[in-house]
Amino acid sequence: MKVHYDFHIHSCLSPCGDDDMTPNNIVNMSLIKGLDVIAITDHNTMKNCPSAVAVGEEVGLLVIPGMEIQTREDVHVVVLFPSVAIAASFELQIDAHRLMLPHKPDKFGRQLIMSTEDEIIEEYPVTLLASVDIGVDQILDMAIACGGVAFPAHINKHANSVLDNLGFIPEGWPIGAVEIFQPDKNEALLQTYTDRYKILTNSDAHYLQDISEPVNVIEIPELTIDEIIKYLRKT
Ligand SMILES: [Zn+2]
Ligand SMILES: [Zn+2]
Repeated sequence: MKVHYDFHIHSCLSPCGDDDMTPNNIVNMSLIKGLDVIAITDHNTMKNCPSAVAVGEEVGLLVIPGMEIQTREDVHVVVLFPSVAIAASFELQIDAHRLMLPHKPDKFGRQLIMSTEDEIIEEYPVTLLASVDIGVDQILDMAIACGGVAFPAHINKHANSVLDNLGFIPEGWPIGAVEIFQPDKNEALLQTYTDRYKILTNSDAHYLQDISEPVNVIEIPELTIDEIIKYLRKT
């Protein structure tokens, strides 16, 4: 079946995410847009995934718990998890490698953890903007070990991307997909990587209006997180 997706969306927990990116607003906007599945991928945390997944279940939208990890090399990698519980235990591993700097909301934006009713539960006190002290290779392995999948984010952006920071994508990486920003404007890059990887186009939305239109499609046997993880893994 054809599935319209957006696997890279930030909530109001990301300091750079708009305060209107609440669980209900994201899920309902995604439904209005006509998407079949989304992933919530805040910087270095999954703490708004429980509410977003629950809201999705209530209204009939598949929501995948995820994270956008900023690695030791300052590279952004999106990790998708089979369940909220597994995402939570992955975050405990991340916590052990986190720079415990206090967050400055006035300067960088608030980090809001939300309930299923879009009420603020807590403002996360530690900055989510710092890199975690884990390398890309290890993040990719950790994603597979927990039953999830990872893909390098926006490989052609000029900040926090694998191509900009490392210069190339190592052949041996256990990835089946890469995310390309505006692939229609990057024909050459698209041609270079189409043979090696599935190409994903996600919104990386920080504002409601930026969530993808139903234009990006994958084809899978049935609409489940397991099938999506299988699709995105290296074959
Ligand atoms: Zn990013
Ligand atoms: Zn992002």
